[in-house]
Amino acid sequence: MEPATPDQHGGIEERIRLLYDTFGQRKKMGLPEPDLRRPLFFLHRPFLGDLDLLTIFNTKRCKYQCHFCHLPAKSPKALVSEEDILAQFQFVVSELKHSLSLITRFTMSNEGSILDPDTFPFGTLRAIVQGTRELRMVRRIVMETRLEFMNRDAIFELRRCNPRVTFDILTGFESKDREIRDEFLYKQEPISSFLNGLDAVAASGCDLTAYVLFKPSPYMTDEEAFQEAESSIDYLVEHCQSRRIGLTIRLNPMYAATGTKWAEIARTTPTYKPPRLTDVMKLAQKKSKEGLQLYIGISREGIDENWGSYLCREDYSDALIRPIKLFNERKSLDFGEVLGKMNTGLRLPSTSPAGSNG
Ligand code: SF4
Repeated sequence: MEPATPDQHGGIEERIRLLYDTFGQRKKMGLPEPDLRRPLFFLHRPFLGDLDLLTIFNTKRCKYQCHFCHLPAKSPKALVSEEDILAQFQFVVSELKHSLSLITRFTMSNEGSILDPDTFPFGTLRAIVQGTRELRMVRRIVMETRLEFMNRDAIFELRRCNPRVTFDILTGFESKDREIRDEFLYKQEPISSFLNGLDAVAASGCDLTAYVLFKPSPYMTDEEAFQEAESSIDYLVEHCQSRRIGLTIRLNPMYAATGTKWAEIARTTPTYKPPRLTDVMKLAQKKSKEGLQLYIGISREGIDENWGSYLCREDYSDALIRPIKLFNERKSLDFGEVLGKMNTGLRLPSTSPAGSNG
């Protein structure tokens, strides 16, 4: 075989780099998809020891307009047919055809609520769960939804469609602070209805994965952000333990999403500073040492303002991303070395470009 010329080496490297950037962890998200037979996004990724297939279905827009969230803006306003949603699922499965036997977990989202039958017809959901029986390594199905749509009978029916899997409900708790929930986030979900939803999660035998936002108010200091996120996590732990619900926390540093009221308040607040990623890491490490299962969500979902995320803070270095990925894969739960170097003022080497979807 002829040795490759330097030019050929450069060519293949460049082509693979392009493929990796287009289809790997840094794949673009946040864009609308005009073809209703295609999902908004999908990604095969490691997640807390699992190999997860995340699929964001392209379905009717979430009717809520939380003040911090601009995700539903890219979804269609009309109901998407069962046939089209099933075609989206089939498309994703066929794109992954050579690694179907590696998928252990399937996460379903639609930038809203998978369990809301007005946006995601229940018959379609049943058909997809039935289809996952043939993804034979899948042991967990995660469905993202507001808890008001929890329905014990529906979960029992889904369980009959695939008895092999555990169901995990993924929901945004965000904060336990009433004022933050009502005024800044405009969740339209009083804590009392969240707790009723937790009762339904327990009655259905599901696990819970809950988002907690780090620094959900633009008026918070760094210290207040740490304390508030910790007390929101503790609140969830207490209420899940008392109901015997298995809990995973997704700790997300708050970012200002373009076009939201939250971003407008942050932009016009002179004291506003986005969260420090190292604070998020310290809290994640502390809670995981207490035995909590926790994942750090570093994705800005392709819709952040360039002044409104952890990337803008003075502690940020792209060398923080790799340790966070190892943490999320349960390969190292200790940030001691990287945080120690930062405390002693050592410059961290660059390792990977920021902006992965995690
Ligand atoms: S946070 Fe959830 S419920 Fe609120 S607008 Fe976004 S997708 Fe809808």
